[in-house]
Amino acid sequence: MSSGPSLDELMHDYLDALKSGASQRWPAGRWWRDRRCPGWGSFRHRAVSLAEIAVQCTRRAPGAGHRKLGEALMSEPVLEQCEACGRRVPGYDTVVLSSETKSRSLCSNCFNDTMAAWHGIDFQHPTFEPLTLHDVDGVSHLFHFCSRLGGPGLAVEALEIKGGQPQGYEFQVLGKLDQDPLELFRRLYERIRRTLARKHIVDGELGPRIGDENVVRGRITWDDESHGEVPRLVIDGKELSWEEFGRMLMTYEGFQFKLAILDRSDEP
Ligand SMILES: [Zn+2]
Repeated sequence: MSSGPSLDELMHDYLDALKSGASQRWPAGRWWRDRRCPGWGSFRHRAVSLAEIAVQCTRRAPGAGHRKLGEALMSEPVLEQCEACGRRVPGYDTVVLSSETKSRSLCSNCFNDTMAAWHGIDFQHPTFEPLTLHDVDGVSHLFHFCSRLGGPGLAVEALEIKGGQPQGYEFQVLGKLDQDPLELFRRLYERIRRTLARKHIVDGELGPRIGDENVVRGRITWDDESHGEVPRLVIDGKELSWEEFGRMLMTYEGFQFKLAILDRSDEP
């Protein structure tokens, strides 16, 4: 057994980092990278300070590594046991506190309870049932929802689930600590509806191409095949390699473009 900080110590470090202002970030954000990096190796080595521990407090990859084991077709989410309450919850609904030597997994509910106690607020962990919504082509998308209290406030997220794992669309809205979670959920829902109502990549005579608006919105994710050297994009809820996207851009040879990078909670 390796030695390292206990769950309580990790949580204590995280809260200390928040108190000192070392981190005002939500325990989120590196979700996709983590998903693609079983073992957390690519980030664990960077955990050299309390601030970094805070930043590293993030959700665990849902069944990280299972894809490589040929289990990509599993339909049920990989369950992980919360090390505080003992419940088994989907991997994407957990928060992991990690240091250089250890990581500990909490369900969102337990993590939120701890954060609420630390902030001295009365917080009821909301549970939003999964929803199936249809896009502009009539294709159905199943969304699961997660809520997490962080240093600055409350985040509510929607994750599209395919084959038991988050894949495709992903949304986040942020609010203040005392914000009504239902209000955030409404904002999130409207954003999902607006996004599903539009499409950026369409079928062309020579294959997929950028739509007539000449605008693309999407998300940057990790690409295992390039070992993270170049991004993998998620556009219209579908993964697209950097090369595939580059080929689409060649339709516009000689044209100009502008690229804007937005926070995951912003609406592009
Ligand atoms: Zn728990």
